[in-house]
Amino acid sequence: MSVDKAFREMIRNEIEVQLKPLRAVISRIEAGTADLESLRSVAERLAPVAAAMAPLFGAQVAKPGKRGPGRPAKVAAPAPVVTGGKRRGRKPSAGGASECAIIGCGSPSRTKGYCAAHYQKLRMLTKTNRRPDSWVDYAKPNSVEDLKLPRGRAAAKALAQAKEGSST
Ligand SMILES: [Zn+2]
Repeated sequence: MSVDKAFREMIRNEIEVQLKPLRAVISRIEAGTADLESLRSVAERLAPVAAAMAPLFGAQVAKPGKRGPGRPAKVAAPAPVVTGGKRRGRKPSAGGASECAIIGCGSPSRTKGYCAAHYQKLRMLTKTNRRPDSWVDYAKPNSVEDLKLPRGRAAAKALAQAKEGSST
């Protein structure tokens, strides 16, 4: 007889033994003569069996009371207190070297070296395929020449030209 088979046999016998009182209680429930105390005692007797059986079936059963050997009770460390919340981008005035990359803008840089307004402009230029080569990411403060966008009819023409350039 293999060890595995012997083990299963043992488990089966153990379950049989442990289930006997449960059967008795069930018959009493059916007969209407069961009391809560006997139900509780059966539940208590079945608990260790359930705990022992759980791994065999891959189930997770909370062990009542003490923990398994070799595992010291570990108290979960309290979550680190986060102060100030999530910060987006760089702090505007931190370090001093964080002015907008656009010459003469003077606003604090927010994203990739550009202030909020110029980053929006950069995104718009990128989207419309008109981003100048000088408008690089993380450009040095006051190092990039601003781009005067055409207005009115000229703007529409420039946009159309840019679109044509991107598709071919
Ligand atoms: Zn700017």
